[in-house]
Amino acid sequence: MLKLKDVSKFYYNKGLIATGFTKINLELKMGEFVVITGESGSGKSTLLNVLSGLDSYEEGEMYINGEETSHYTERDFEDYRRKYIANIFQSFNLVNSYTVYQNVELVLLLNGYKKSQVKQKVLDMIEKVGLTEFKNTKVSKLSGGQKQRVAIARAMIKETPIIVADEPTGNLDSASSKDVIELLKKVAKDRLVIVVTHNIEQVEEYATRIIKMHDGRIIENKEIRKVDIPEKVEESKYTKITTANKYRLGIRNTFNIVPKFLLLFAVFLFITVALLSEYASFRQTEYEANKAGYNVFFRDLSEERIIIKKKDKTAFTRRRLR
Ligand code: ADP
Ligand code: MG
Repeated sequence: MLKLKDVSKFYYNKGLIATGFTKINLELKMGEFVVITGESGSGKSTLLNVLSGLDSYEEGEMYINGEETSHYTERDFEDYRRKYIANIFQSFNLVNSYTVYQNVELVLLLNGYKKSQVKQKVLDMIEKVGLTEFKNTKVSKLSGGQKQRVAIARAMIKETPIIVADEPTGNLDSASSKDVIELLKKVAKDRLVIVVTHNIEQVEEYATRIIKMHDGRIIENKEIRKVDIPEKVEESKYTKITTANKYRLGIRNTFNIVPKFLLLFAVFLFITVALLSEYASFRQTEYEANKAGYNVFFRDLSEERIIIKKKDKTAFTRRRLR
């Protein structure tokens, strides 16, 4: 599924070159549960980002399903991410003002499904991660472990062959960490799962391969269980978001946080009132000035004055009034 040959990642910053990782060789198959460990700064996140097409690489070749990617443009990688990759993050990255249901539904709406098609699918997925009783609860009210379950549901419903998780248990206590890893293993059966974590004990039971990184290199790559499933890769089916859903989400985002909406509305009112009163006082001044006989264009405001205009309303002289 994924193969890296002498791949290196460099960061170029104000004339300084920093190394993300160097000369990585790696082959990962469908059905594997890959655990990456190593101290902070050893290049784990950088490696995940390259594997999931979030970041480019500068040297070597990465193969996706046998296809070379060194010529890929940003667009190609975007396409790759849509079809192949679902991410889970340490900080969950959920929409806190949405309910559990809305968070999971969002993925499908963004991927072109119609609202009427997705209901059962979303409910089934919420059931799978054991959150049915919280389906209408706002995510901000959930515990860390529950939030990560929502994130897993969201990742799974995208139906991509690869799930990438960067320290998904980094913000969780050890009991919820265990739950989350167990759930991930259970729901991601035949997919390729790549997880970064510091707690090897928690994942040892499930991992099929453990990779240790140090200083941008892989210092250990151990296959601890054989995975023997045929390499069957099914891309996530997606299209563009429908227009109806774009509006639906726009409206949802405007109204779903009541204080935010009220605040925005107050700011809007304030600006409107300020502009209107500014305009009114401008008109007032003008009116007063007129009454006092002062006018920048016509100094003579007597009732009997004669005004002459050209038919086409152009000026009589080319010179501008000063
Ligand atoms: P880990 O996830 O294992 O803690 P990272 O992959 O985040 O490590 O970082 C690996 C190395 O790459 C570190 O030395 C880090 O300083 C460097 N690095 C990461 N991101 C950047 C960046 N955007 N610019 C420059 N250097 C970076
Ligand atoms: Mg990291």
